[in-house]
Amino acid sequence: MASIGLRRSTLSIALLFVLLSSLQLPLSKVVAQGDVNDGAGRAELHQALLDLTNPWTVMCVAAHPDDEDGSTLTILRRKYGAHTVTLFSTFGEGGQNAVGPELYEELGVIRARETMAAAKVQGSEPHFLGLRDFGFSKSAEEAFRAWGEKEALRRMVLQIRRLRPDVIITNHDTVSGHGHHQATGRLILQAFDAAADPKQFPEQLSEVTIWQSQRLFVRGFRGAPAATSPTDSNNQGVTIDPNEMDPIRGTTYAQQALAALQQHATQGPWPKSIGPNGGRIIRYNLVKQTATAAPLPANAKTPLDGLRLPESEATRLVAPTIEGKPLTDFVDKRSVVLAALVNARKAGAFTVSKEIGDTDPQRFQLMADRLDTALATAANVSLTVSSGDRVLVPDHRTPFEVTLTNSGEQEVFIKDMKSKGLAVEKQLDPAEKLLPGTETSQQLLALTPKTAKFSVPAAEHLYDGRLFGDPFEVDADVEVDGAQFSVSAKTLVDVAPAVAVSNNNPTPCVETPATIMACESTSLTLKNNLDTAFSGSLVLKENDLGHEVTAEKPLSLGPGETQTVINGPINTTLPNRQRYQKNRSGGAIAAAVNGADKSEISLLKIPMVYIPAVVTAGTRVGYVPSTDPTLKNSLTALGVEKEELTGETIAKADLSRFNTIIIDNRGYEIHPELIKSNDRLLKFVEDGGTLLVFYHKTNEWNPDERRARPQLAPYPIILDDERVTEEDAPVRFLEPRHRLLTFPNAITQKDFANWVQERGLYFPKEWDPHYAALLSTNDKGEKPLTGGLLVADYGKGHYIFTSFVWYRQLRAAIPGGYRMFANMISYGRH
Ligand SMILES: [Zn+2]
Repeated sequence: MASIGLRRSTLSIALLFVLLSSLQLPLSKVVAQGDVNDGAGRAELHQALLDLTNPWTVMCVAAHPDDEDGSTLTILRRKYGAHTVTLFSTFGEGGQNAVGPELYEELGVIRARETMAAAKVQGSEPHFLGLRDFGFSKSAEEAFRAWGEKEALRRMVLQIRRLRPDVIITNHDTVSGHGHHQATGRLILQAFDAAADPKQFPEQLSEVTIWQSQRLFVRGFRGAPAATSPTDSNNQGVTIDPNEMDPIRGTTYAQQALAALQQHATQGPWPKSIGPNGGRIIRYNLVKQTATAAPLPANAKTPLDGLRLPESEATRLVAPTIEGKPLTDFVDKRSVVLAALVNARKAGAFTVSKEIGDTDPQRFQLMADRLDTALATAANVSLTVSSGDRVLVPDHRTPFEVTLTNSGEQEVFIKDMKSKGLAVEKQLDPAEKLLPGTETSQQLLALTPKTAKFSVPAAEHLYDGRLFGDPFEVDADVEVDGAQFSVSAKTLVDVAPAVAVSNNNPTPCVETPATIMACESTSLTLKNNLDTAFSGSLVLKENDLGHEVTAEKPLSLGPGETQTVINGPINTTLPNRQRYQKNRSGGAIAAAVNGADKSEISLLKIPMVYIPAVVTAGTRVGYVPSTDPTLKNSLTALGVEKEELTGETIAKADLSRFNTIIIDNRGYEIHPELIKSNDRLLKFVEDGGTLLVFYHKTNEWNPDERRARPQLAPYPIILDDERVTEEDAPVRFLEPRHRLLTFPNAITQKDFANWVQERGLYFPKEWDPHYAALLSTNDKGEKPLTGGLLVADYGKGHYIFTSFVWYRQLRAAIPGGYRMFANMISYGRH
């Protein structure tokens, strides 16, 4: 387990660059006025009005993206107007990817984006603790070994103190499921109390104040487990039915929650629709509450029911009404609503009272911000800020287009307009006014400091809070009918070098005896991020046992141009290259872009690994890839003659030209048409071929009549959900002299060293006696699993099924992964 980084991780940080000037005077032009009755606009206004009625914040704590309770979050915001935030322990980068090749940090970037898209549907606001997702674990202890229990608690306490939830909900108890879930369940029990204790993490109190949430609920399908059972609140809880129709959006909350869940596409496939029995009824148990919290009513409909504000706050946090009726009743009368909101603002609604000395100014600020949003929505005033597809380049100016639009029916006076926290040389004229149906745009030039740090590639910034670049925010103070309010717009922009260089080859690059020096033929993509032409040079350097070899060639790129270049071998002169390559464990190629003055603009390092793995000469391989290019890249590194196959080509093509066919991880799930042509695959084996099948999930493999899926192996194999998650779990050789373990590469214990993430998934629980089981492994304290590598003769050929996670080892350039893979490909050929 690698140690975790200790850097703070949230999506918002202070701006790093300075806004220099605003050049153009604003020009007004005519725009279409918004249709007050259009569906999206109506729902948006309804939400903004509903939000004024609910001063409470609910936080949902989840271990991974997609563990959040989307149904409850959706109901609390869409039906009740509560402020909803989600807090994720990890970015989920240790998970699988059902739709693309990205894994690890690259997957984390995608899952963060999916989470933000899901949160948008739920109407919630996502935050991350940035703890490392090191893959599946079985216990909270394993998670805490990687995270550091105190560090994880520190981060969670800080977020509770910042976000100040009145109620916390979670799907995770302390004993069930994934170790990350259990650990998150334990952390939240501690953090609930620790956030309110000034002795806990006192260093945070210079930035935030202590915060006492009032209630903590843990979702339990059969009551809360003993370890989290309520102490003073016997079996109290809330039951939530997500199947109610949302009259504003015309779908049920369960359907909206499913739409949010579907945003987590890498974790799919998800159901396409809610089944005939509706979404599952959700039961939350009240696990903790403060001594001063109002009791939860017996028939509570939400986890917030019964909560009370102190008298002095309650009287000042009252939503505006029209003749005693809520503003949401008037959602189709925008001008009537706007007049009521204008009056509320003029009357000072939700402003913090200095005389009373409110103890909870953040709650007032939240509600005052919501009133701003309601005013802007009702008045149809909006602000956008965009950099197009430009990036920030250190020591260069980047233009931003800022547009303020009045699609409403009232005149809008612009009082002030500025970028947040940044010095602006020139402001808009405060007397400027926008007539109904007009907009004003101007360009701002931001100068990025010379010392700004890059935020690309995103995968390298998963944990440092700069995942999607730096924020650029503009606020406008405007006045409508004598009421002032602000509208703001924010965009995130990457900080990148003037010329970026990226690698089109797998990383690390693997060479084997059949592919010596292949890594030196690097394919690189170069992108000019500036609006001006670039000329300089591309320098490739290879470090071999202390010898540095360099090749330099001139480089010219037009404004904004992207070029792909393939470089030949850097070094053709060093003697006995092959000999010393065999003796080294790795090296690196560095590609640098230099400016005309020889200064280094960007640098890319490509690690290289030499692995002594050989495949029987002349072996021809057909392979059916899943979502990941690892199979193809690994076959390339082994120098094997290969052809990519699809489910269709398996059904039609002459398979006899191959010695070996490989079905990638979960191949029968990703290419379900393979099931229909499985007889052809088995015939290929019968006729003398070798069929190698990588791991599948239990419900993707075991025979299932409903899915018209027969037993797929020539002799039965039945999978179970057993995993071996400790990547250093001992591996025992059950038949050490078996040809699969000895030819052409002699496999030893060394080949199971330095593995990544885990040993294997979904190990078989039963298999036909025709199979030889070659390896045994298990996590600490568990029973040995012996079905991870099964091999049988069938007809004239051979069949191999393996639940070990070879693809992760191949991708990480683990020598044992390549050597065993080479033996499996070569099996049956002498
Ligand atoms: Zn999870």
